[in-house]
Amino acid sequence: MIHEIDPHKFNNEFKVVDPKVTDFVIRYNGSKTLLKKIGEGYAIPQVGELLALEGKALTDFEGHYLFSIDDTAFFLDDSKGTVEAEAPAGYEYMGSRTFRGMNPVERMGGATAAHIAHWESLNKFCGKCGNVTIRGDHERSIICPKCGNVVYPRISPVVIVAVRNGDKLLMAHNIDNPNPRLFLISGFVEVGESLEQAVHREVMEEAGLRVKNVRYFSSQPWPFSDSLIAGFTAELDGDDTIHMQKEELSEAMWVKREDIPEYETDVSISCCLIENFRRGFTVSC
Ligand SMILES: [Zn+2]
Repeated sequence: MIHEIDPHKFNNEFKVVDPKVTDFVIRYNGSKTLLKKIGEGYAIPQVGELLALEGKALTDFEGHYLFSIDDTAFFLDDSKGTVEAEAPAGYEYMGSRTFRGMNPVERMGGATAAHIAHWESLNKFCGKCGNVTIRGDHERSIICPKCGNVVYPRISPVVIVAVRNGDKLLMAHNIDNPNPRLFLISGFVEVGESLEQAVHREVMEEAGLRVKNVRYFSSQPWPFSDSLIAGFTAELDGDDTIHMQKEELSEAMWVKREDIPEYETDVSISCCLIENFRRGFTVSC
């Protein structure tokens, strides 16, 4: 899954670090990140190359440290604010899903950095008193110096569930997903409910089905939607007639194990849960 980058090591301890020219830099404009075009793909620019493009020295770098993977740090560029500046030749501003096409280190690091950048961009002003905010100096936080309001990174919990009915799996397609493949029932956890209650509610809302034996499977960060996803397995409880929620889904159906195609398990827990069912409950990601 996206956070599994062995043998590389993710270090997100909060600290102040000076940039190196070989560190990665995220220039974020409020929704997109500046990336370097390489053939058909993209790469995250390094501190040194963006400085060179602008005729600046390392001492001119305006940015702050986010985290590191191995010895390479990820910095958030502060020089352009959140206003979309024109991309230099050979570069483009791209949505965070572009990170999914990169190698595991840039995929995980880039998407996580964009998650933090998005959170910072939404909290330039205090939501309580309207004053300009500043970054915390001893933990990852945003502080209002006027009223003391403290804001932590936004991480929204999501549940996803593989509902089985004998040798069949409940699969669905969300109307907002540009990928036409079938996935699983999922949704954001509502205020006041547990993860398990969210599983029961989402399956009832989206497919009109009752489930039992809800069991935790695994979890993963999902920076593309500022989320933490908790994966579950469950069994159908009673009537197998699907009543699909047309506002959310374009398809919902029971799919026999032998009719499920193979899914890549290197990025998403959704695919891990599907593969776990398809391979007879032998996948442990
Ligand atoms: Zn305030």
